[in-house]
Amino acid sequence: CGIVAYIGGKDAAPILLEGLARLEYRGYDSAGVAVAAKGGLKSVKKKGRVADLAAVVPARFKGTSGIGHTRWATHGEPSDVNSHPHLDGSGRFAVVHNGIIENADQLRAKLESEGVVFASETDTEVLAHLVAACAKETDELEDAVRAALSRVVGTYGIAVLDAEHPDRIVVARNGSPIVLGIGEKEMFAASDVAALVRYTRQVVHLDDGELATVRADGFQTFTQDARATAKQPSTVDVEE
Ligand code: GLU
Repeated sequence: CGIVAYIGGKDAAPILLEGLARLEYRGYDSAGVAVAAKGGLKSVKKKGRVADLAAVVPARFKGTSGIGHTRWATHGEPSDVNSHPHLDGSGRFAVVHNGIIENADQLRAKLESEGVVFASETDTEVLAHLVAACAKETDELEDAVRAALSRVVGTYGIAVLDAEHPDRIVVARNGSPIVLGIGEKEMFAASDVAALVRYTRQVVHLDDGELATVRADGFQTFTQDARATAKQPSTVDVEE
């Protein structure tokens, strides 16, 4: 339903929670956040309101890059485990996702036959395991995400956090919006400008089939076949 991502010099968690609260008007049943901390990813997720989530995020939830999600369940009941982010088995990757993966059942069966153990009932979790499987073939997060998405049929806006590349977040769009927000030595991404306008008015809308690497000092957009695309930022003019 709603996606927020942050990378920069500040603590990510409060910014993610603030962004999620600004997406509440869209409706949701659960919420969660993950940050890239020293020593690996940290993730907290919970059925219920963003305020309920904020109440259980530990004080030591430190990390300057992270992703957050408000979920409107389509595959699997609203519950803590079905909430996003979803992690792969090793805990290296965290994924938040809006939309529906139509071939999730087939992908899940294939991954399970290869020994992957699923934690949730969601279609989204296949993305985390697929990225992990594809990352065995490449050192580049972007290539792993592209390879994973090439096996997916359905709609998605996604954000992927990688413990081994905490300097970046990879986002992708196909049928579910993703917008980048350009700050001063910090970058944002979200499914809706409402999550960003408190921080920046300079935005870049991804097109369907487009991905982006987002870093503290900028971004690069590219296509599913790895061609770089050129995007002009626009200025949002909305009431905060
Ligand atoms: N299909 C995913 C799920 O049920 C994402 C739903 C959403 O867009 O929030 O978890």
